[in-house]
Amino acid sequence: GAGTTGAPAAPAISLEGVGKVYRSGHGTITAVQRIDLEIQQGEFFSLLGPSGCGKTTTMRMIAGFEEPTSGTVRLAGRDVTGVPPNRRDVNMVFQSYALFPHMTVADNVAFGLRRRKVPAAEIRTRVAEMLELVELSDRARHKPTQLSGGQQQRVALARALVNRPSALLLDEPLGALDLKLRQAMQLELKRIQREVGITFVYVTHDQGEALTMSDRIAVMNKGVVEQLGTPAQIYETPATRFVAGFIGTSNILTGAVHGVADGHARIDYGDDQHVLAHADGAAPGVDLILTVRPEKIHLGVEKPNETLSRIHGTVREVVYLGSTTHYTVRTVDDTEIVVFQQNSSDASNLAERGDTVWLSWRPEHSYVLPG
Ligand code: ATP
Repeated sequence: GAGTTGAPAAPAISLEGVGKVYRSGHGTITAVQRIDLEIQQGEFFSLLGPSGCGKTTTMRMIAGFEEPTSGTVRLAGRDVTGVPPNRRDVNMVFQSYALFPHMTVADNVAFGLRRRKVPAAEIRTRVAEMLELVELSDRARHKPTQLSGGQQQRVALARALVNRPSALLLDEPLGALDLKLRQAMQLELKRIQREVGITFVYVTHDQGEALTMSDRIAVMNKGVVEQLGTPAQIYETPATRFVAGFIGTSNILTGAVHGVADGHARIDYGDDQHVLAHADGAAPGVDLILTVRPEKIHLGVEKPNETLSRIHGTVREVVYLGSTTHYTVRTVDDTEIVVFQQNSSDASNLAERGDTVWLSWRPEHSYVLPG
């Protein structure tokens, strides 16, 4: 506003060179090698990665349940090293909602406020607000056991938000729900986060979930962040081979550059087949690793124009999925390429198992990975 110095607000959460080594009688385990990242106020931020990559440990260090063995955790600019969880302005929601079974929904939500001796009238107002937010006003007097899994999860969320923490940490909170309910809750969580404007840090191993909900994602592998970016950046321009393989389906192609023309590197595969890619500084003889997403590839019988990447092969598998069909095509050098085609009314039964087909895609859809 007017008269301020214009200094940017401190990030809600910052990790500076944060690492965690667990020591036991059997030796040491490096759960987190070194993480540097900043999460902004009001962001929906996900830590995404396979089991054991260090997501939960990272989250627990933010919450204060674990102390880092190296580096600094800051909340709103303040170094919180050594500060216990209940004195950090964050709250955590777990997969096991841990609701009190003998208390009503309203009492579960009110619990933390009562313990902090908030006046009764204010408790009533804030609990009512929270139940409205999670759309459970009509269940205030029910016991948790009378609710569905999704509703119980929403009570847990209301209970965590009622204290108005500056950040909410969620560790695979939807893991126990079935797929349909999980998808509905993903949108619900996103709506609630938007409404309350609180920073959410979300741990998941489910890439679809992270892509659906997040403003930004940190993709973790073996205790490091391999890529930090928006869902579109991570999907469209994976920084590493690991990210390309972990997010969505990727086709990986390798080969040596044979020629460079019009700003495109060309890898020849013989028999009039080639792949074209934008590759800055690529010279003949340089080995490239590139990835192309299944939905960018066109499958047809005609030989494509030479300005496109074009590879031929044999259809090995056809999976019809209603709006799309997934093909697996084996090339002459035994690489399998996955192709997703939209099904339009006139193009059904485009190809069958055993057919010889041409695959083609534009040069900009060959995304070059660092070697
Ligand atoms: P998941 O998705 O399976 O929960 P994760 O990505 O959350 O995995 P972490 O739980 O952070 O991974 O674990 C990272 C590594 O640290 C794993 O190898 C794990 O076995 C180890 N680890 C976690 N907690 C401890 C602990 N208290 N003592 C020793 N090792 C631990």
